[in-house]
Amino acid sequence: MKALAGVIGWPVAHSLSPALHTAWIEAAGLDASYVHLPVKPGDEAAAFRGLAALGLKGANVTLPHKEAALTLADHATALARRCGAANLLTVAGGALTADNTDVKGFLAGLPTEGLSQDRPAVVMGAGGAARGVVVALVIAGWRAITVVNRSIEKAQALIAAVAAPDMSCVIRSSPWEERAAALEDAGVLVNATSLGMTGKPELDLDLELLPNDALVYDVIYTPIRTELLKRAEARGNACVDGLDMLIGQARPSFEMLFGHPAPISVDARAVLLERL
Ligand code: NDP
Repeated sequence: MKALAGVIGWPVAHSLSPALHTAWIEAAGLDASYVHLPVKPGDEAAAFRGLAALGLKGANVTLPHKEAALTLADHATALARRCGAANLLTVAGGALTADNTDVKGFLAGLPTEGLSQDRPAVVMGAGGAARGVVVALVIAGWRAITVVNRSIEKAQALIAAVAAPDMSCVIRSSPWEERAAALEDAGVLVNATSLGMTGKPELDLDLELLPNDALVYDVIYTPIRTELLKRAEARGNACVDGLDMLIGQARPSFEMLFGHPAPISVDARAVLLERL
């Protein structure tokens, strides 16, 4: 029987996940389909329940349903609970398990060499993406993280949610007005706001105090080269765009949905760039 899965969101027609999963399905020779599943706000509980009834293997979940996916699932992984959001629902025996592969996705884009966890990481934003980024940095051994957000109470709530008693990482919040000063000594700067995305205002951030050897990672992938990345590149900073995270979260999702590793023969970046 054909294996079915998809991505739930609203709006979701712009999602590149079906193109990527379809390329992997074809390369793996699977009898499977992965499609857009538009679900209006308010309909998510019925839609999630319907996954099992319709015989789907599960679904990725994107805005605005990531928090609901966590709370409405029958089970949740510890990682999804720590992130306060799930981007993957899998079906087994009629029950739904919520998981979060955004954390792995972010880590997939981090260079494995040349970064020191002893130097502070600065994360701009305190929304869903920022939560995954902060959890990923903690897991990867960072010792100090500064969360800078326009609404300082959201940054504080993020820190309270992510904190664990055995954690050796110190996470502090910083007001939006002090964002340029927060960059001093940083080893990594992550833009996890929606600023700089096509159709949104630019991220207004003075990079003067950012060390030239710091990594600048923008989770945004529309456009691929945001103004932040262009400015960072121009002053010699190494840069990572949001496509690595997108591909990095899709790989484990594919394996969990279809029980087959995402074929490495597919140039996932090329598949996505063709559609951007
Ligand atoms: P949320 O809506 O949850 O969070 C948005 C964040 O941006 C908040 O911190 C918000 O601050 C901040 N922000 C928005 N407008 C402004 C503004 N005018 N001035 C200052 N701050 C602002 O979105 P997500 O966290 O889910 O997504 C953020 C970005 O990450 C999106 O562009 C999304 O496409 C991208 N993303 C990329 C992924 C990938 O795989 N590469 C995965 C997930 C997301 P405040 O709290 O004050 O409102």
